[in-house]
Amino acid sequence: MSAVAQSPEPVRLRLRVTAAAEAAVRFGHPWVFSDSVLAANRPGVSGERAVIYDRKDKFLAIGLYDPDSPIRVRILHTGKPVTLDAAWWQARLAQALARRHGLFEANTTGYRLIHGESDGWPGLVLDRYDTTLVLKLYTAAWLPELANLQALLAAAIPADRLILRLSRNIQSAAGQGFQRHDGQVLAGAIPTGPVIFSENGVRFEADVLRGQKTGFFLDQRENRREVELRAGGRRVLNAFSFSGGFSVYAARGGAVSVTDLDISAHALESAGRNFALNRSHPAVAACRHGTVQADAFEWLAQGGEKFDLIVLDPPSLAKRAAEREGAIRAYERLNAQGISKLERNGILVAGSCSAHVPAADFFDAVRRAAAKSGRPFTELKTALHPADHPAGFKEAEYLKVIYLQMGA
Ligand code: SAH
Repeated sequence: MSAVAQSPEPVRLRLRVTAAAEAAVRFGHPWVFSDSVLAANRPGVSGERAVIYDRKDKFLAIGLYDPDSPIRVRILHTGKPVTLDAAWWQARLAQALARRHGLFEANTTGYRLIHGESDGWPGLVLDRYDTTLVLKLYTAAWLPELANLQALLAAAIPADRLILRLSRNIQSAAGQGFQRHDGQVLAGAIPTGPVIFSENGVRFEADVLRGQKTGFFLDQRENRREVELRAGGRRVLNAFSFSGGFSVYAARGGAVSVTDLDISAHALESAGRNFALNRSHPAVAACRHGTVQADAFEWLAQGGEKFDLIVLDPPSLAKRAAEREGAIRAYERLNAQGISKLERNGILVAGSCSAHVPAADFFDAVRRAAAKSGRPFTELKTALHPADHPAGFKEAEYLKVIYLQMGA
């Protein structure tokens, strides 16, 4: 490996893959798994471009090689041969930005600019929080490219600051090989506190240096707005509240009270600050805000207070495909408990972010929970991905929410 990889112009890495992988890539699937690679002309190094040839020895696709991941190649381009030069990368970025053009009004300054594979940027996410950009990498294959990437972003997107976030599995490779670390400020001033941004005029803080994902769950924006519209006059429980995103919207929508329930004290403190940020709105100021630090599964299983609207948006309950069936049962149990705490005509807003649980299975689990309660219920709506988090292939579909209204 060393002699070839270290020469100034290494021979292009060429791969041949199984017939099934070839068909999938031709169809636009962005991943080639390690066990689909049949042959390589030489060992590859992390981050280099690999060209995949088809059975007739014709160019099929080019992608990022990652020897340390079961996803061995992340496809950048399929079809006719191309040169991935500066103009190509500029066009690729412009495409992602154009896709969001006109989606947000000026009172929304937090949203996703690049959503990984589905935007043609495999394993890479870029979020905007007002004038701060947060770049999150999920594969070490981008690390050698980081300086170029930073220059590309700086030229195309006006911003005061760029923060680097790294998924846990690549943090040690980033530190050892590239002197990069999670939460590194790549450009601009180091933030002295959380970054403040707006969503439909609601102000939130995001812990862009250490928070989950890139600091906030931007993917639930449209569901938060829906909850605001339905919250008037209701007593609301937000279970797995994180920093109270759904709650502040519910308060602005006229909820009488909102209770945030989360296992993390840190999350609940952030929820308190997010309420405070919006006190100038009379409905938020008038809403009673409470917090409960507890395991939501245990807390919901106990009797006690009932609510008129309950949001149940737990973390992923299936980390692997093998956990799918168990997760579906867990969703049914959890939502049955939520339903038992709903008043007559109360609304359940049930979410799932498990990519390994298909939307149809999740919706059915929640419907089963409602049916087994013996109460009549109406299905108000279901929702999938918002436009700034497109899901372009099956494995990318993770977000689903179902709204039920329970009768007597
Ligand atoms: N609904 C939120 C995102 C939820 S993220 C939003 O729209 O912003 C999942 C949250 O569940 C995290 O804040 C995490 O601290 C919390 N959590 C994880 N396990 C929990 C448990 N067993 N009980 C209560 N909260 C839990």
